[in-house]
Amino acid sequence: APDREVLTWEGFGDASRELTQQIVDSGWIPDLIVAIARGGLIPAGAIAYAMDVKAIGTMNVEFYSGIGETLEEPQLLPPLMDVSAMDGKRVLVVDDVADSGKTLKMVMDLIDEHGLTLDGSAAVRVEARSAVIYKKPVSIIEPDYVWAYTDKWINFPWSTLPVIKP
Ligand code: 5GP
Repeated sequence: APDREVLTWEGFGDASRELTQQIVDSGWIPDLIVAIARGGLIPAGAIAYAMDVKAIGTMNVEFYSGIGETLEEPQLLPPLMDVSAMDGKRVLVVDDVADSGKTLKMVMDLIDEHGLTLDGSAAVRVEARSAVIYKKPVSIIEPDYVWAYTDKWINFPWSTLPVIKP
């Protein structure tokens, strides 16, 4: 069996507290947290509670169809978040892992491109940063906040057990 990085629920509890501590220690508190669904949903929820941020949005992106099997490019799926809801805000984008980094980069670029269409005034400027539990060495993007580094396939507690079918 290939070597895996196993994150337990308890390990995830520690990871989300430590990642939040890192963000708070940097002196930057987001107004809004955007989860990249589905992998970033549970981390984003845990971070939002840990730093008492109540505004949450999601961007639904699909990339992997199975272990190591990828689509050509990450696909943005409905329902789509209104990016203008981020205007004038500090936005923390959260995902489980930056592996190739393509998913996170796509979302950060989307936010940046939206920023370019704005008039550039302080009232509408979006300041986006990113946080992930894991970063892999191949990632094309350097997230602002990272809990741990690995080059293995990661088993996350929410996606390891078999799907419950009817
Ligand atoms: P990307 O290659 O675009 O950085 O990764 C996109 C998504 O694929 C991640 O958010 C995550 O949901 C999934 N993914 C990538 N690498 C792994 C991994 O090692 N383990 C698991 N469980 N999912 C992964």
